[in-house]
Amino acid sequence: MRQYDVIIVGLGPAGCTAGIYATRFGLKTLVMGKEPGGQANEAYEVDNYPGMLGAKGIEIMNKFREQTKTLGAEIVFSEVVGIEKNGNSFFVRTESGEYEGKAVILATGSKKRRLNIPGENELRGRGVSYCAICDAPFFRDKAVCVIGGGTSAVMSALMITEHAKKVYLVYRKEKEDMRAMPAWVRKAEQNRKVEMIFSSAPKRIEGKEKVEAMVFEKSGKELRLRVDGVFVEVGTVPQTALAEKLGVSLDKGGKIKVGCDMTTNVKGVFAAGDVTNGSADFEQIIIAASEGANAAKSAYNYLRKL
Ligand code: NAP
Repeated sequence: MRQYDVIIVGLGPAGCTAGIYATRFGLKTLVMGKEPGGQANEAYEVDNYPGMLGAKGIEIMNKFREQTKTLGAEIVFSEVVGIEKNGNSFFVRTESGEYEGKAVILATGSKKRRLNIPGENELRGRGVSYCAICDAPFFRDKAVCVIGGGTSAVMSALMITEHAKKVYLVYRKEKEDMRAMPAWVRKAEQNRKVEMIFSSAPKRIEGKEKVEAMVFEKSGKELRLRVDGVFVEVGTVPQTALAEKLGVSLDKGGKIKVGCDMTTNVKGVFAAGDVTNGSADFEQIIIAASEGANAAKSAYNYLRKL
């Protein structure tokens, strides 16, 4: 079995940065995950990561990963299916084999939340999408709606305007309640293809073979939009299954509880990025990256004393 000082689970901004710093601390480092990039891959444009103005999320994440590898971390693309602690060792099981580490950094991120309304599952992949950057080109000259009031929803709506002829951006509350960054909301307001609709809660998605309409409840009545696509951007759910099996404590919001040094309640287990409560729900690439750096330093300090 291959042995490492630290095994980092997750290939998003937190995992890659933890990998970069761990190698600089001289640790034998493995970074692994099912897919490269994490949620940041899907960011249409990242204007708020210093030094990368206008870069696509996927471009930034490719650079993160390249740097992690160049500096000496090993990268394995494989889903981690379990982690067991035995004494001071962690055994990390994947579909392709088992790895042993003396410390673990969980940077497992989050995944898109579902609406859980009729039609969503049935029409998934047949007009219902959770990834604008992946699926927007399928809606050339069509009408679609994007559901949500956060930055992801607004960014997705703008991205989709590059292909679709009409984009409804539908939020369940009022404009002033939107969580999206005001700069992005302004861009959406200025885009002629975007129509913003407020106070409308998603009710069901209609369609036989593919999406035909999206139905909302607005002021006690049904609002039915004839659309070819529905993009669901209603936030994220932290990926904590591995952490929970290890006995790592979560907060009320279901995120891994970390100290300011990214330690968890389990000795030798550190966490970083969107899966933790460290950012107070301000999920940004720069914050995930800084948590990754911090977690690597704490893992180093822990290993020195082991
Ligand atoms: P978010 O900020 O949590 O917003 C989720 C939105 O979905 C909210 O407007 C929420 O409405 C709505 N919603 C939740 N459940 C719903 C339901 N069942 N039906 C209808 N609407 C529902 O999520 P996000 O936009 O994915 O952003 C997540 C994090 O990533 C944030 O911290 C954000 O700052 C960050 N992010 C950053 C960037 C960037 O800086 N480049 C880009 C994207 C995302 P309520 O307001 O009513 O709860």
